[in-house]
Amino acid sequence: MKKCELDSKQPDRRRFLCAAAGVCGAPYLAFSLMQLAPDMSRSLTKEERDSMTPSQVIDELKKGNERFRDGKMAPRDYRGEKRSSAAGQYPAAVVLGCLDSRVPGEIVVDAGIGDLFVGRVAGNVVNDDMLGSMEFGCKVSGAKLVLILGHTACGAVKGAIDDVVMGNLTGLLARVKAAIPATKFEGEKSSKNPAYVDAVARTNVALGLAEIRRRSPILDEMEKKGSIKIAGAMYDLTTGVVEFLT
Ligand SMILES: [Zn+2]
Repeated sequence: MKKCELDSKQPDRRRFLCAAAGVCGAPYLAFSLMQLAPDMSRSLTKEERDSMTPSQVIDELKKGNERFRDGKMAPRDYRGEKRSSAAGQYPAAVVLGCLDSRVPGEIVVDAGIGDLFVGRVAGNVVNDDMLGSMEFGCKVSGAKLVLILGHTACGAVKGAIDDVVMGNLTGLLARVKAAIPATKFEGEKSSKNPAYVDAVARTNVALGLAEIRRRSPILDEMEKKGSIKIAGAMYDLTTGVVEFLT
């Protein structure tokens, strides 16, 4: 009851918390659910973020994705979130996503300003700058999760399969190409086969996770100690589902 009563000044939020927790007699659960929840007029606080486990952050992202798919996204007060986060930010996760305009990291998991660090590059490839950003996000800032968010029908994956050569894109696609021979697939292996493209995209996410662990001793150690999780997911452009792979 306690947490619900504490939130009595914010009726809408209290309603959500009680409903989300199922009962009001589960204060810790209710507390954890408020982190990335709707009806937020402010961003995450350090205390709230630090109270979450990496698994709880994943759970909140899954719930946010459900809200997104159901069309029940939080009626956010962006100005309130902007005001509350201006003096400091305490995001719960670092998301590495694709440049693709159809996969905006915050929107597909219904997160607000200050909730997530989001880095985007075509093919959601891991490079030195992204690794440095992830290390900042987790080791310096305290995020609990590193998530590589791949997606279906990825143009960068298609370009890698088709061996596209063009300016600086060539070098970027070279990073994606490693996923091609590493993908076991029965059927037509071409960029015109959506199932094959998506299979390579999944492999690309998996190889990205291995890259992070191999090339960032800082993040690898944090994961081994249980202070963070390093996970992958695939976003389906058609259904809107974010499917966690690990
Ligand atoms: Zn893409």
